[in-house]
Amino acid sequence: MTDYPKSLPEFQQRFPDDEACASWLFDLRWPNGFECPGCGHDKCWTLSCRSWTYECKGCRRQTSIRAGTLMHASNLPLTIWFWAAYLMATHSNGFSAVQLQKQLGLGSYRTAWLLLGKLRAAMIDPDRNPLSGLVEVDETSIRQRTGNGPVGVGRSHEGKLMIAGAVEIKGQGAKTHPGRLRLAVIADYTSETLHDFVATEIATGSSIKTDGLASYNNAPNMDHDRNVVGDQLAHLVLPWIHRVFSNFKAWALGVYHGLRAKHLQSYLDEFVFRFNRRRYRHAGLKTLLNLVTKRQPMTYKMLIGAEQSA
Ligand SMILES: [Zn+2]
Repeated sequence: MTDYPKSLPEFQQRFPDDEACASWLFDLRWPNGFECPGCGHDKCWTLSCRSWTYECKGCRRQTSIRAGTLMHASNLPLTIWFWAAYLMATHSNGFSAVQLQKQLGLGSYRTAWLLLGKLRAAMIDPDRNPLSGLVEVDETSIRQRTGNGPVGVGRSHEGKLMIAGAVEIKGQGAKTHPGRLRLAVIADYTSETLHDFVATEIATGSSIKTDGLASYNNAPNMDHDRNVVGDQLAHLVLPWIHRVFSNFKAWALGVYHGLRAKHLQSYLDEFVFRFNRRRYRHAGLKTLLNLVTKRQPMTYKMLIGAEQSA
């Protein structure tokens, strides 16, 4: 199986040019050798006239290394995709589109925004397992960014964005630490909404710990450790999800100067991706590129549309 670089010098050595990137992607896409997406045949010619394109010896279909992936129709060199994925996966805070444009010397903001949007879309593994064991669950809200200014500039009564969060608690007593995290945009704090969040993100038979908000009562198929406390003390009974929320808010302000409603879920996904890989960031590069090859192609319009409907 394809290994991954564990430092910046290793990354530079492994991926000096598009050829090195393409050959690594080939192994990632076809770990057991070429398989034609048309007919499943396992023999191909490598075309010399088109970059990283293989012609099936069975049905003659031509498949490029980018075809059927998020890199489809992208004019960017593979090295740029790899650099962007490396930066996004390994940096503890990530980059805004403006920062990425500068870092990679990209020609336009739109190119950087599109590249980031596609990488963010690959930050959720559709086959991921729900959280399990003891899980802290809570909800919070953040002020949304409107207009062109950062949060706090201009009208402040634009409403808040609501978020539900759940984090696994590992260890015992005073030596607990957080496991995996989930964050989701929610429309309200009703039972229906929060039960839905719990049922989607947490495995049957787990135990949830809450601050006593009645909406969590009778959450389906869970043990429930309900701690009725005022807002002042909620951080004591739910220390980890509270820490996550405050880190998320600081990150959203620091990197993005606040978040807008239509972008919110993709930024939550980005934060969760990095949080869940905080102890092995370099492995995140391989995960991210693997998901890039597994996601269907997306266009600029699709990205805009997805965010507008969110
Ligand atoms: Zn074929």
